[in-house]
Amino acid sequence: MPATFSHHFDTPLYNEKATIQTGLFINGVFVDGVNHSTIDVINPSTGKTITSVSEGTAKDVDRAVEAARNAFNTSWGLKVPGATRGQFLYKLATLMEESLDEIAAIESLDNGTAFGVTKGWVVPFSIGLIRYYAGWADKISGQVIETDEGRLTYTRHEPIGVVGQIIPWNAPLLMFAMKIAPALAAGNTIVIKPSELTPLSALRVCSLVQEAGFPPGVLNVVVGYGNTVGSAISSHMDIDKIAFTGSTLTGRKVMEAASKSNLKNITLELGGKSPNIIFNDADVDQAVNWACHGIFFAQGQICFAGSRIYVQSGIYDEFLAKFTARSKMHKIGDPFGADSYQGPQISSTQTERVMGYIKSGVDQGAKVHLGGQRHGEQNGNFITPTIFTNTTPDMKIVQEEIFGPVSVVIKFEDRQDVIQQANDTIYGLAAAVFTQNISQAFEVGHALKAGTVWVNCYNEVSAAVPFGGFKQSGIGREYGSYALEHYVNVKAMHINIGHKME
Ligand code: NDP
Repeated sequence: MPATFSHHFDTPLYNEKATIQTGLFINGVFVDGVNHSTIDVINPSTGKTITSVSEGTAKDVDRAVEAARNAFNTSWGLKVPGATRGQFLYKLATLMEESLDEIAAIESLDNGTAFGVTKGWVVPFSIGLIRYYAGWADKISGQVIETDEGRLTYTRHEPIGVVGQIIPWNAPLLMFAMKIAPALAAGNTIVIKPSELTPLSALRVCSLVQEAGFPPGVLNVVVGYGNTVGSAISSHMDIDKIAFTGSTLTGRKVMEAASKSNLKNITLELGGKSPNIIFNDADVDQAVNWACHGIFFAQGQICFAGSRIYVQSGIYDEFLAKFTARSKMHKIGDPFGADSYQGPQISSTQTERVMGYIKSGVDQGAKVHLGGQRHGEQNGNFITPTIFTNTTPDMKIVQEEIFGPVSVVIKFEDRQDVIQQANDTIYGLAAAVFTQNISQAFEVGHALKAGTVWVNCYNEVSAAVPFGGFKQSGIGREYGSYALEHYVNVKAMHINIGHKME
């Protein structure tokens, strides 16, 4: 049987012990993988191994799918009322709340996000998501559609079946909650793969799923690598739907595997290169604060990070000076350090990747206005907040998703020009407009090709408000009732109550 890992956090912020089962979670119990191999989980702050977890394989995906199919047919799906499914989700949310500090500490240890952020926002928001969808579970229904007096016509919104889900490392618990809650509320059963870089919070929550008494097999977690477990899920013939979050590159592979296997239903939440547009009439101090939050929150490892900042010429110098001063104030370091705002990038590979982008910016002639370096020890995963100026639209740092604390600040003159520049990207995840002119806010907001547009704010999300991408940022929506639509099959029922066939 897989081990239990216990870690005592010896910090002023959380001086307690956390306990995690490190096996795969299949059919309601923690089990060893069929190959009995393990994956080391590395602390991104120190580079040291935190623990080892069981490594799943394609055969473990088969076991998990079998358990999920059985649960779907016997103890979930159409076999239990929506209200009952909601009660299980409410119970899970309550148990998570009781362990909030422990889950937050695990998340910060594993992912490097500051403990103040995981405790203050990530975990509470994830719990809120589960409660939000618990409330939906008994409100998912079809329509009665008037046709003529001789017929009764109505639709049923039926669960799809076994759902495969693949999530990344940048916001592990939030991604986990965002994926499982609507799928379970709608009556599906799940096989989910967390990133092998950050599996710990999902495994901790699995113990709470057990405690909440979910029927075995409703939720299965198979930790493993993308090219084994991820591709086994996307190409599995008995998985009815796949929901993926990660890079656009991998999203293409998942879509290809889905189409080459059983043409499973698919939703994708992919990358972004989101423009943040600040007009002359904006409240500059507020724009600076939101812009900092927009790009530097969570080390810039956010799909909707506001990485391209367009500032109108009349306030460009003032904005840049204040944005620079504010960015310098961020405390970088140990996620458990008092006042830490920015922790480490997730891994040395990802740190090298971000540093490679910074080098490409320099090589292509952009100016490093701030940062551009590693912070602290030579080989640590910390990168100073970075601001580039003197860019041109074709540069890699203007076009590609960096997924680190790197911004470009670009001067613009007129509205039509900035709309054109903002839309000049393969992505369309999010955008923001800062202005005091309400007509300008609407006009620009409507012209931007993005799934979310913020006006005079950034990074605002709500469990009830849809989120997702235009263009190559994805297919489908997370959050709100929109997410539920991706987890049901709509069946039309035609009942003949009076028509005779002659
Ligand atoms: P990936 O897209 O490679 O990984 C996301 C998930 O997909 C992981 O669980 C990964 O597993 C899995 N995966 C990898 N290959 C396959 C495959 N062939 N079939 C099925 N699943 C697979 O993102 P990375 O973690 O490598 O990050 C790279 C870049 O992706 C980032 O720099 C960023 O640009 C972008 N990204 C975007 C995110 C977003 O929210 N939009 C989130 C994370 C990353 P494994 O862990 O083994 O790779």
